[in-house]
Amino acid sequence: MSEKTKVLLVGGTHGNELTGVHLLQRWQAAPDELVRPNLTVTTLFANTAAWQANRRYLDADLNRQFAQSDLQNETITHQEGRLAKSIAAQIGPKDQPKHDFIIDLHTTTANMGITLVLNSDCAWALRAAAYVQQHMAGVVVMSKTTDRMEDTFLISMGRQRGIIVEVGPVPQGVLNGQVFEDTRIAVGHLLDYLSTMAQNRSLPDTINAYEFEAKVTYPVDDTGAIIGMIHPALQNRDYHPISVGDPVFLVQTGEVISYNGASGLVGGFINEAAYYDQAHAFSLLRPVVLKVL
Ligand SMILES: [Zn+2]
Repeated sequence: MSEKTKVLLVGGTHGNELTGVHLLQRWQAAPDELVRPNLTVTTLFANTAAWQANRRYLDADLNRQFAQSDLQNETITHQEGRLAKSIAAQIGPKDQPKHDFIIDLHTTTANMGITLVLNSDCAWALRAAAYVQQHMAGVVVMSKTTDRMEDTFLISMGRQRGIIVEVGPVPQGVLNGQVFEDTRIAVGHLLDYLSTMAQNRSLPDTINAYEFEAKVTYPVDDTGAIIGMIHPALQNRDYHPISVGDPVFLVQTGEVISYNGASGLVGGFINEAAYYDQAHAFSLLRPVVLKVL
């Protein structure tokens, strides 16, 4: 065999998503769980200051700071901008990544089950996602294609990028045993695949996935304040089709706002707590079929 594949396993990129932080603590106590043939696995607790404050971030979202242009921009000096530069110095530079593949552990307050988020059509990520889908029921793949150097996510610091493991629903600042176990098992399958991918795997030719299509914002008043909420009929309906006429918002006045957008789409990140500051209520996703092999 040639050189070992280098995997970076990241928790605490968002300080109030506790699952990844507690998994890192578990693996510190039980490092054998991460050992696989042909792999070198290292861990990174990304944003300890935000974790201490039990906040997603202190100044800006760390998981939007890794575009090469921003890493090179010395005028970005807020806490997470400096933290991203420090992480990039440790695991990069971006054009010369030290790790082949990055697994970044996240949670969501939306009812999205086990979702694997890919930012690329990189064969490693697609095949690893297909492998996890084969070995765990209900795993969803969400994908969008971006240029690695301009990709703002931490996983873009990997040579073959990586996968965000996004599990929910769980409130911010809360541990949920099922979410913890689902995340732990998904990571185990990812490492299994990365360990043995050189061997001939019986993966499917294609997988079903979802691509981001658009953001839908809450109803707001003249000052921009949110004056409505996700309609009860939409709550928890992540990955279910949305049709014209379906109720999507319940306004404080009792008015119901119905969906009148494009057809053939599903909802995702429905009522994600982290997006209230942008009045982002949910995302519209398009079902797609991705070629794996
Ligand atoms: Zn997150």
